[in-house]
Amino acid sequence: MSTTPVIGVLALQGDVREHLIALAAADAVARPVRRPEELAEVDGLVVPGGESTTISKLATLFGLMEPLRERIAAGMPVYGTCAGLIMLADKILDPRSGQETFGGIDMIVRRNAFGRQNESFEAGVTVRGVEDGPVEGVFIRAPWVESVGAEVEVLAEHEGHIVAVRQGRALATSFHPELTGDHRLHALFVDMVRAGR
Ligand code: GLN
Repeated sequence: MSTTPVIGVLALQGDVREHLIALAAADAVARPVRRPEELAEVDGLVVPGGESTTISKLATLFGLMEPLRERIAAGMPVYGTCAGLIMLADKILDPRSGQETFGGIDMIVRRNAFGRQNESFEAGVTVRGVEDGPVEGVFIRAPWVESVGAEVEVLAEHEGHIVAVRQGRALATSFHPELTGDHRLHALFVDMVRAGR
């Protein structure tokens, strides 16, 4: 295998540090990305959980909206968790005014679908492609995927709602594996980045 992949974590807002730790544990070189020059240097990118409206605004402010859309469209591997899943959706069902996404996955998402902050919960989730049993899904004001296009593979559902998907080199989960100490989803993404090089 060639050299260790360099994976960025979009560091505009959200739980950046936890993703950097999880990626390092999954044998990647992990770095925060805030500027287009930093984006140009990574082999793949994680879009963290946080608040998708804020990430959308800051991405525009930092001049990252277009460069990110271009790299994702050109096949850069990306992994979005929670707000990050929303940012990778081609369409949001209930966007706040002016809210935009990077796109990359042909899906429609519903924000805050599982309820408000105080309705956050944890549940075991079986994810296709992740071995050795279910992962602990941490759902915090989590979105679900309302519908997907033909190119999208559904990797997991919770109570009949789609919570993990993959389309080509784009991966997204409604929940937050970076908060659990279980790095199997990050390892899956690191493998996708390796395969993409
Ligand atoms: N509800 C948030 C949003 O719309 C996502 C919450 C999260 O990332 N934990 O962006």
